[in-house]
Amino acid sequence: MALIVHKYGGTSMGSTERIRTVAKRVAKWARAGHQIVVVPSAMSGETNRLLGLAKELAPAKPDESYSRELDMLASTGEQASSALLAIALQAEGQPSISYAGWQVAIKTNSAFTKARIESIDDARVLADLEQGKVVIITGFQGVDENGHITTLGRGGSDTSAVAVAAALKAAECLIYTDVDGVYTTDPRVVPEARRLHTVYFEEMLEMASMGSKVLQIRSVEFAGKYKVPMRVLSSFTPWDIDINEEAASGTLITFEEDEQMEQAVVSGIAFNRDEAKISVLGVPDKPGIAYQILGAVADANIEVDVIIQNLSKDGKTDFSFTVHRNDYAKTLDLLKEKVLHSVGAAEVSGDAKICKVSIVGIGMRSHVGVASKMFRALSEEGINIQMISTSEIKTSVVIDEKYMELAVRALHKAFDLDQA
Ligand code: ASP
Ligand code: MG
Repeated sequence: MALIVHKYGGTSMGSTERIRTVAKRVAKWARAGHQIVVVPSAMSGETNRLLGLAKELAPAKPDESYSRELDMLASTGEQASSALLAIALQAEGQPSISYAGWQVAIKTNSAFTKARIESIDDARVLADLEQGKVVIITGFQGVDENGHITTLGRGGSDTSAVAVAAALKAAECLIYTDVDGVYTTDPRVVPEARRLHTVYFEEMLEMASMGSKVLQIRSVEFAGKYKVPMRVLSSFTPWDIDINEEAASGTLITFEEDEQMEQAVVSGIAFNRDEAKISVLGVPDKPGIAYQILGAVADANIEVDVIIQNLSKDGKTDFSFTVHRNDYAKTLDLLKEKVLHSVGAAEVSGDAKICKVSIVGIGMRSHVGVASKMFRALSEEGINIQMISTSEIKTSVVIDEKYMELAVRALHKAFDLDQA
């Protein structure tokens, strides 16, 4: 018997029929003697629908009173799905109670639409579990110190579930979703992609930050901080499959580096098209240049990812970096208006048609030559590398976006990821 948190995504909660199936699955776990807390998302499409209504009345603006109402509004999606699930569980003969975030309470800071969880009060939840109830807690939301409802950012129910699991010291946090686990890469790009049975949490963090959309990245950070074992698994298996089989399915995100994991040097290939490249050319090479350029970008709240500075020639150098594509135009304008002349650079240029492809694996820590194997595989396909960045467990390259799929397939093959 264990305390286990289940999280169900929007598709899994997408209709009353699906909610009934979730209820049957949850009741099966409760009947097996486990204490179960469920954190559901809103029914699929509901959050978008609600936010769309707000936009019809007034276009999105970064104003606090508007953001507050967005949270008041969007949080109702999870309140509805949670109550429906409690009703479905009761209909299955399983005592159950649902709570909104503020009722628990899940305390957050006051950053509306992107709040961070600060604490969770477990008293009420534990008391209900003791009485044999399944406790349902709305995902995605909390309450700030002034009693205002907040939400945690899109996809935030994953983070709610992990935070609840951490607060309750749950044995495991099961993330039920519409895919059956974490793959070596996106199977839509590489049909031979394999499901990983385990993935090390640091690898998951890299993959989540680079386009593998299975989990909200905050949830993985949370799991790492509090060492919450997390499993991604399918909610589309028959609800009555053997519970032990279900408990071992999907992908476990682990903190233990066991020997088996050490064997795979590269565990996955991540990629995204979310970035754009900016270059500042002919910059006088003297102390303070990087700060003048990147400081101005940071002051505008724009996040910078890959950065390179070339060797200088005749006292001048070129400086390139990537930003999120949404910030591309803004960054170009800013540099042209504020930085170009003050640093005495010759030119600012950019390219939004790039992508970033990364190989990820904790095995890279203890193996040499991994990056060169990556570069060889890309060169064999005639793919030009524009930028490179490395960390202990990943190597990323920036390339022309038209070669993205080719690059991912070539790397998947080069690192034998299609072979178990
Ligand atoms: N319902 C919210 C969203 O669509 C939160 C979640 O599903 O995780 O982003
Ligand atoms: Mg999600």
